[in-house]
Amino acid sequence: MNNSFNVSSASAVTLVDSHCHLDQLDLSGYAGGLSEALDAARAQGVRQFMAIATDMGHLDELVRMARQHDDVVYSAGVHPMTRLEVEYSLDEIREYIERFEPVAVGEVGLDYIVASGEQTPYVLRDVQYERFRNHLIAANEGELPVIVHTRGAKEDTLALIREYTDPAIGGVLHCFTEDIDMAREAIRHGFYISLSGIVTFHSAENVRELARQIPLDRLLIETDSPYLAPVPHRGKPNEPRHVIEVARTIANVRGISLDEVAMQTTANFYRLFRNAAPQAPQAVLDQLGNLS
Ligand SMILES: [Zn+2]
Ligand SMILES: [Zn+2]
Repeated sequence: MNNSFNVSSASAVTLVDSHCHLDQLDLSGYAGGLSEALDAARAQGVRQFMAIATDMGHLDELVRMARQHDDVVYSAGVHPMTRLEVEYSLDEIREYIERFEPVAVGEVGLDYIVASGEQTPYVLRDVQYERFRNHLIAANEGELPVIVHTRGAKEDTLALIREYTDPAIGGVLHCFTEDIDMAREAIRHGFYISLSGIVTFHSAENVRELARQIPLDRLLIETDSPYLAPVPHRGKPNEPRHVIEVARTIANVRGISLDEVAMQTTANFYRLFRNAAPQAPQAVLDQLGNLS
């Protein structure tokens, strides 16, 4: 396979990849490295990339990417499954946020599926819980939205965001595959729901049902690349350019145009991540005026 793309298809759609691990992409198909992978996404209409940290140790690299690319912003946080020798204290988390000035705190959260499975060594539930809580406190103090990873941990996730997240700031439940009641409860608390390439998987009718039911003004889209490549790219490393497949599937199941999904999820992104808004294309800002 080559990764060439047709620039003439550089489309009218305006997309955001709200969650990609840019420091973990498989760039072996791109002689030009990350720049070329981002160009391939831009040619599909992707106007903004949110580079997601899974450990504070990644931040130097993410900041370097954001300096090189005007359309990259980044988060700061420790993923629930990142194994650490020593946990960051609340003060240390605060210091990282102050020093690196991310547009969001994440990805953070609870993954009780992995924690209960065979996969070892894993991060114990109570360690995840305390880590998540400390990030929520620091995010709230810094008035930053949170990017939340949540699997098999509905009650604890909702209880923590209810207690520590200001609905006026909110956050996103990313790569969401849980039930509609959880989505609704989070939305009531100022959250958005982000769908990934899982929505394209043949087996994931439950996620397509979520795509039908979640209010369009609360939806975000993401790749979570390099993981979870959507149909028709399954089995290969995922990349930000494939976010259009997520938008396409949502458009299909809702019976609306790709352009509407693209514009609305992009406007939602800038409404949630206010500190990324200076990078928003003017057309999106105009739209935001109408939508917010
Ligand atoms: Zn995640
Ligand atoms: Zn992720």
